[in-house]
Amino acid sequence: MKQQVATSPLLEVKNLVVEYVVGNKIVHAVSDVSLEIARGETLGLVGESGCGKSTLGRAVLQLRPAQSGKVLFDGADLTSMRGEALRKMRRRVQLIFQDPIASLNPRRRIGDIIAEPLVIAGYKDANKRRELVREVLGAVGLDPALVVDRLPHEFSGGQCQRICIARALVLNPEFIICDEPVSALDVSIRAQILNLLEEMKTRFRLTLLFIAHDLAVVKAVSDRVAVMYLGRICEVGPSEQLFAKPAHPYTALLIEAIPVPDPDVRPAESVPVGEPPSLGLSFPYSLPARGQEMCRGRPRASTHSSGQIRGLPSSANLGREP
Ligand code: ATP
Ligand code: MG
Repeated sequence: MKQQVATSPLLEVKNLVVEYVVGNKIVHAVSDVSLEIARGETLGLVGESGCGKSTLGRAVLQLRPAQSGKVLFDGADLTSMRGEALRKMRRRVQLIFQDPIASLNPRRRIGDIIAEPLVIAGYKDANKRRELVREVLGAVGLDPALVVDRLPHEFSGGQCQRICIARALVLNPEFIICDEPVSALDVSIRAQILNLLEEMKTRFRLTLLFIAHDLAVVKAVSDRVAVMYLGRICEVGPSEQLFAKPAHPYTALLIEAIPVPDPDVRPAESVPVGEPPSLGLSFPYSLPARGQEMCRGRPRASTHSSGQIRGLPSSANLGREP
């Protein structure tokens, strides 16, 4: 997916804050996040489970209201859009979920599932819908004649993810949020789905936000990578640079934890899990002990040339200098 990218951003997220109220507590799922994604770019978003990746993706699509902040898509503010304007804009932005089988209605035939976005978008001609469904199924490597009349349970996980990709592509979107699109799949077919996404990206000129907690996958597909920790982006940078020279200690811990397929190499210490982003416990105070140790004595991480680093802990916040 790595390719030359244009400079003007297709998506701009500005100081986005998303919170959940759970009983009498507030979960700060996304805290003051700012990001830019250029046209044609794949931005990888990585971080441990519960750090707010999916919430950020849903808030970008306006599926989850934000407490504050802006989401600009192609210059238009999605957060202030309502009704028909938002529906029109949503055709240009799609989402692929983690669990392909669970995201397909088990009672509906594949042809109807893929045609549904077309129906919602107002395509009234049934023949045209069938033609577009056949076309997109062919593009994702499935034989329309063998697929359209069958039900989701008749397909494997990998085939279901192909169907989900077809559903996401049928309206010819410009931007797709892929929320852990391969983590629920068998290792043997992950590469096939990643290759398919890469092929679709080129063919349909897509821009991708690729969410994952697997750094190896993110490294393989992303032009730039954003590292999220407890609701905040702690580092953004070009993929090669971020992996070769992580600026933030948490990124370094994540990279250290990537398994090496060599029996002689000792497994790295697992990444310590931080406190959930709940009331009174937010970044950086809940940075795990080892992360705090690594941060101590380090200067504030510098900004990557083409990325931005926001909300980094100052050494004062993390304890006394040694
Ligand atoms: P994973 O890698 O496991 O998918 P994630 O990074 O996508 O995790 P989110 O699902 O965005 O994380 O969750 C961020 C935080 O918000 C977590 O603490 C989670 O428990 C909380 N959260 C998510 N959805 C809800 C909800 N509907 N109601 C209350 N809290 C929620
Ligand atoms: Mg998630």
